[in-house]
Amino acid sequence: MPKPSPRLAEVTKTSRISPSIQRIHLGGKALRTFPSTTPGAYVKLMFDLEGQPLTAVVDKSQVAMRTYTVNSFNPSIPEMTIDMVLHASDGATGPASAWAGSAKPGDTILLAGPGTSKGLSDTYQWVLLAGDMTALPSIKNHLAALPKNTKGYAVITVESEGDIVNIPKPDDVEVIWETKAPLPEVVASLSWHEELPAVWIACEFSDMRNIRRWLKDEKKLPHEQLYISSYWKKGRSEDQHKIEKRHDSEAFINSLKAG
Ligand SMILES: Cc1cc2nc3c(=O)[nH]c(=O)nc-3n(C[C@H](O)[C@H](O)[C@H](O)COP(=O)(O)OP(=O)(O)OC[C@H]3O[C@@H](n4cnc5c(N)ncnc54)[C@H](O)[C@@H]3O)c2cc1C
Repeated sequence: MPKPSPRLAEVTKTSRISPSIQRIHLGGKALRTFPSTTPGAYVKLMFDLEGQPLTAVVDKSQVAMRTYTVNSFNPSIPEMTIDMVLHASDGATGPASAWAGSAKPGDTILLAGPGTSKGLSDTYQWVLLAGDMTALPSIKNHLAALPKNTKGYAVITVESEGDIVNIPKPDDVEVIWETKAPLPEVVASLSWHEELPAVWIACEFSDMRNIRRWLKDEKKLPHEQLYISSYWKKGRSEDQHKIEKRHDSEAFINSLKAG
């Protein structure tokens, strides 16, 4: 099937839901035909090479895409929300984060998608969901979709205590918010149940590789029980990260094949 054309979305509202997260509400008639999504679905916001939001289709060599999870979508309005981390290192940021901080009602931007990501495996006795703030919308939506009797953990690293938000979850899933220790350390400190888990993890590239190695070598987790992905990489733009992510994934699959 051909990919749908990018849609022009209009910012209808923005709010700072925590010190590091800006929620952007998007509407506009092009979203009326946006399909319903499952947890982990994402859109690509489109910018030009100067970092300005695109409002008309241009040659793809002139586009910088930035990926964001669909936090919520209500087709009857229509309204989509995305929760964007406001990151800055030494004052420098990227086009998407800069746009999130300055967007105002009436602004427009092209978005492509939705794309879907692999969900939790169908068979499991407990779950482990983990990630940093970029994975929070996905973890939240996965938790909301789990059967009420699910047990396990959700681990989320946040910049500060102010970034902790209330998320509905099954009673027996313990949510662990961490402001200091790195994600791989927190995940490794959990008491691991012997039964079969479904594991879903999204975070920074190096953290992803550390956790993946630990799951494979120490926990002997069957590959089909795992979704693990890097959502960004320290010191790399999304365009650069995408290439390194592809190479890493190919090398990992080859290592599995080689046994
Ligand atoms: C499937 C998927 C879903 C995602 N969903 C979300 C989401 O819902 N919300 C969300 O906020 N992000 C999400 N991300 C991550 C987001 O796409 C990246 O953080 C993206 O690089 C941000 O683009 P930018 O233009 O702000 O920065 P870029 O131009 O890509 O990068 C500029 C600099 O900022 C650094 N940087 C990028 N992201 C971060 C970060 N989060 N923290 C600290 N430094 C960073 C880079 O390392 C680089 O040095 C998702 C990614 C994927 C693959």
